[in-house]
Amino acid sequence: MKKLITSLCIALMAMGAEAQDFDQYFEDNTLRIDYILGGDSAHQYIQMEQLYKQPRWAGRRKRLAETYLLGNAQINVFDHATGKLIYVHTFSTLFQEWLNETEATKMSRAFEAAYNIPFPKQPVDIRVTLTDNHNKVCASMTHHVDPKDILIRPIGENGIPHKYIVKSGDIDTCVDLAIVAEGYTQDQMDKFYKDCERAADALFSHEPFKSMKNRFNVVAVASPSVESGPSEPGRGIWHNTGLSAHYDTFYSDRYLTTSKVHRLFDILSGVPFEHIIVLINTPRYGGGGIYNQWMCSSSDHATFKQVLVHEFGHSYAGLADEYNYGDNHVEWYPADTEPWEPNITTLKDFSKKWADLIPAGTPIPTTRNTPGQQNQRPANTQRGGTREDLNKKTQIVGVFEGAGYMANGAYRPAELCRMNVNEVEDFCPVCTRAIIGITDFYTGTEK
Ligand SMILES: [Zn+2]
Repeated sequence: MKKLITSLCIALMAMGAEAQDFDQYFEDNTLRIDYILGGDSAHQYIQMEQLYKQPRWAGRRKRLAETYLLGNAQINVFDHATGKLIYVHTFSTLFQEWLNETEATKMSRAFEAAYNIPFPKQPVDIRVTLTDNHNKVCASMTHHVDPKDILIRPIGENGIPHKYIVKSGDIDTCVDLAIVAEGYTQDQMDKFYKDCERAADALFSHEPFKSMKNRFNVVAVASPSVESGPSEPGRGIWHNTGLSAHYDTFYSDRYLTTSKVHRLFDILSGVPFEHIIVLINTPRYGGGGIYNQWMCSSSDHATFKQVLVHEFGHSYAGLADEYNYGDNHVEWYPADTEPWEPNITTLKDFSKKWADLIPAGTPIPTTRNTPGQQNQRPANTQRGGTREDLNKKTQIVGVFEGAGYMANGAYRPAELCRMNVNEVEDFCPVCTRAIIGITDFYTGTEK
């Protein structure tokens, strides 16, 4: 009993210290920082473009200086007077995906980026770093921010209507998810709101989101476009839309994204938000999701629900794709580095991953002749079967070769998962644990 009381006291003391940290260093407003990320495969750079002050702070108020997932990029905020690390934000970028393209060996390009941090009370030094697929820093830039700087532009309500689809609590305590309209004309906003209801239904019909719905707010932001539907460059179709979203990103026909991140944040200046779904008005298959940047999803394809939940797995929980392309065309995950994504491993440092979830006696890597997993076909061909078969392949945890676009040298936790194929609804146990863990982190729930 004494031990329990002592633990409780320590926990309360820790909570008190962290709560005090927020109020000591930050006010209940947001500092939005727009950057330009640029370069080529050999050299990258980071440039600060503009600072904004936005009302309220929707992000976490505890575990402020904690790095939960490394991501491919990090923002570290230091109190200028003491040098103390007071806030960390981690993320990935479309720019870094592009660096893996052949084009990046031939030319330099620039990409927009924007991030929110709590508004500091005193001057801070902000260090932005980009890391490569060896988790090594490849670009870094530090800039000073004085909260009294007269050139920090105040922004707020922008006249774009918004409506809560799910309102579970105050922005202080819930994850705040914004759905932004793209390719919807003013006349199509009734459809947009209905599509947002379908998106929320999709998300909260999947575990573990279903059980955690009361920890989420979902707000629909009805930003109108001049023309309906995204651009489709491969078909010669170009539309004038709010975010210039298009298929054929990096010449991949299904890769539907927007690179107009500054405009996206302008649209969102009227609402407190932490995570973004760009809902794109089209029946054509497509989408994309980048950790702590945005996820894009087409609104009317038959696999809308599955794709939306899959892409949200990327943008919300930093989950990697668990499928592969049958070869090692691009070595996204080099053997000498343990990836930061929670649901993929190179076995370089597997003890930090899901070793604790594997049944005793399971060989690593897991072969298809493992007891309880007989008669399974090679990876990526085992999509058929009864619902019971699919469930079994989703729920039995092992270390299966073939993940992260690579046929060899990268491993996934289950034969099948929502992060692998559209035919299964469920996340594997490792992805499920990751989503719960990061929700605890975002909502400041103690470990
Ligand atoms: Zn998974």
